[in-house]
Parts: sequence; C-alpha cells; structure tokens
Amino acid sequence: MIECELCGRRGATTKAKVEGSVINVCGDCVGFGREIPVVKIKPKKPSPKLDGMEDEIVEDLKEIVKAERFNLKLTQKEMAEEIGERTSVIKRIESGWKPPLKVLKKLERLFSLKLMEEASNTGVKKKKGKKELTIGDIIEVS
Ligand SMILES: [Zn+2]
Repeated sequence: MIECELCGRRGATTKAKVEGSVINVCGDCVGFGREIPVVKIKPKKPSPKLDGMEDEIVEDLKEIVKAERFNLKLTQKEMAEEIGERTSVIKRIESGWKPPLKVLKKLERLFSLKLMEEASNTGVKKKKGKKELTIGDIIEVS
C-alpha cells in the first residue's frame, strides 16, 4: 500500500500535481492538487484479419526477383541456396507464383527490398482508380 503523501493515510491510489511536484495522494487529498489521470493501456487483442486487409505481395514480384537475381549475379540454383530453398521455388516465383510469407521474407532480406505492400497502402491504391465516363454520362453532361 502506498501512503498518501499529504495526510499519511494508507491507500494513496491517485497521483496529483501539488505545488509543482507529482505525489501520491488519497482520494480525500486529491483536491489539494491537480489530479493526473492514469492512462490505462489496454492490451491489444489479436484481431482476425479481414479480407483485403492482409499485406499483399507486390504485383511485379517475378520481375523484381529476376532483376535482383541478375544484379546479384546469381543463378536460380545459387539464389535458392542463398535463401535455403529449392531451385524449383525460384523457378516458380520467376514464372509468377506467389510464395509463402516465410520465403518472401528471406527474399526481402537477400535483396534488402520490400516485397510486401502494407494493407493500409493497398487500400488507398485501390481507391485511386478513376471512374471512366460512360457514353451515358457524356450524353447527360452535354
Ligand atoms: Zn490524503
């Protein structure tokens, strides 16, 4: 139990600012100073990811992988060894296959590149699409 620093009573549950210093006070003494609200941090619940909220793999992954592999002067086999995967994994990625996250993470590390688009970003991107005018709209305007 914390003692109230003003009256000495046990059970000081509040912090208050009194004459410039923050002290522990009981409920009765709070009035002498300015109460400091205790900010309670709620533990974050692991919320199930909603559809479309998941991080997405960049569209041109296979092009990036090919280009980066070329930059590093690695063969598919050598690159597979670098990330501890089979050569077939690299072949599949370069033909457009979206690898599991763990493989992707290894590629990100190898290339020092981001290969995932964060959910928030993709959400914005999707909204960017310009609505094209249909013939009906044009007739209405003119
Ligand atoms: Zn008190």
